[in-house]
Amino acid sequence: MARYIGPVCKLCRREGEKLFLKGERCYTPKCALEKRSYPPGDHGRMRRRRRESDYARQLRAKQRARRIYGVLERQFRRYYRMALKSRGLTGLTLLQILESRLDNVVYRLGFASSRKQARQLVNHGHFTVNGRRTDIASMLLKPGDVVSVREGSRDTVYFKNLAAEAETRTHPSWLSRDLKNLSGRVERLPERSEIDGSLDEQLIVEYYSR
Ligand code: SF4
Repeated sequence: MARYIGPVCKLCRREGEKLFLKGERCYTPKCALEKRSYPPGDHGRMRRRRRESDYARQLRAKQRARRIYGVLERQFRRYYRMALKSRGLTGLTLLQILESRLDNVVYRLGFASSRKQARQLVNHGHFTVNGRRTDIASMLLKPGDVVSVREGSRDTVYFKNLAAEAETRTHPSWLSRDLKNLSGRVERLPERSEIDGSLDEQLIVEYYSR
């Protein structure tokens, strides 16, 4: 599956806020936004903030969500279509689809410090879903699915230290986790209050309904 391979800090600078795409580094003074809080590009520093049009606000809301979850445009649009066909509220369903991606669930369980790292761990085949090895980060999980660290990966340094590391990270209540067995379970789909409140799904829906 294609993925964005360009500089990620540029994405935060473009959005003008921290999107926390690099894990621990985002909480240190090394964060690029601490040093250069203006948009990237030759004229970024001189760019003046103009009053944003409705379209610009919708576009930024969509881009922001896409970047947070590390999803490219085509895949994101596919998720929107899936949400549109569903019976529930389109915006909320779209966010629930994004949250139920395997890489996001691994991140939410505290098994990785960022979605980017979670995606890499999944791509390298370190996880199983319902006992079967998978390396598809975009796999959509449903309630009842169990994610575990693969038996053969448990002896690596990263996974040996993971339980202690994950202990310091909280996980949402729509997921349960068992740190002793390095596994987690999707109990239900997340409610709106359990998803990043700064995401504006209404603007995203408006963007695609133009
Ligand atoms: Fe964004 Fe993290 Fe880079 Fe800071 S360090 S600009 S929060 S990705």
